[in-house]
Amino acid sequence: MELIQSVRQMQARADEIRRAGKRLGFVPTMGYFHEGHLALMRKARELADVVVVSVFVNPIQFGPQEDYGRYPRDLERDRRLAEAEGVDILFVPTVEEMYPEGYQTYVEVTELSKPLCGARRPGHFRGVATVVLKLFNIVKPHLAVFGEKDYQQLKLIERMVRDLNLDLEIVPHPTVREPDGLAMSSRNVYLKPEERESALSLYRALELARRRVAEGVKEVAILRDEIEKFIQAHPYTRIDYIEFRDPETLEEKQQVDGPTLLALAVFVGQARLIDNTILRP
Ligand code: AMP
Repeated sequence: MELIQSVRQMQARADEIRRAGKRLGFVPTMGYFHEGHLALMRKARELADVVVVSVFVNPIQFGPQEDYGRYPRDLERDRRLAEAEGVDILFVPTVEEMYPEGYQTYVEVTELSKPLCGARRPGHFRGVATVVLKLFNIVKPHLAVFGEKDYQQLKLIERMVRDLNLDLEIVPHPTVREPDGLAMSSRNVYLKPEERESALSLYRALELARRRVAEGVKEVAILRDEIEKFIQAHPYTRIDYIEFRDPETLEEKQQVDGPTLLALAVFVGQARLIDNTILRP
């Protein structure tokens, strides 16, 4: 596995790979790999001839009060895990090269950035869209794999690709979970042992909603109320949002009368966890 740190070098390698007629698959990440990241790499491995994985903790997608400084990092471990998945190139750019002195260009996906995490994390999705477009221009992939765990991010990237005529395919990957259902996340390391059980309330709330919808409940107000009470019954939890939205436009829904995104964000101790599912009546 090659380790590339310079943008120019990555672009030159991408040109070589494309000139050789090979299909280039890409998995952008912030590192500190877990099974979710590895599953995305396997998907890329399956669909492409050459797999590039980037590790970049993107400062411009973190708010001033957020966890940029303490976000978990372990490049040595990430190297070993990526190598074991058959990744060809690990691209690890520096903040200085990505955002040099004088940097001032940003991408905004206006409507899809507004609700859910966008409302709670001002500037977050502008930072995400900007870094992903930059990485696409550096890695020049034919396809890029994104997790459904970050559902709003996935939809926003799909929209950006369409709107800006980017010549690549976005491949979604289902959320990878711990055996008990907890969605894998680099931020799960923030959970104290006594908070671990409460973290599971997100997944259990999604299950509860799926069960209630299967029983015929359609009213979002009723479902929201039940989920809220359920999560609040767990210690260390503080609900950030419980939202029911159209899976494509992310517009609010009052009834589960068709596919409906249920998206949750809950603080469990210091960790802000998100999870989601598509409810189907
Ligand atoms: P991150 O390093 O958290 O920015 O995530 C990098 C990529 O991995 C994104 O496309 C995420 O959606 C995806 N991802 C993170 N956690 C999971 C998971 N549990 N299952 C599937 N994909 C995930």
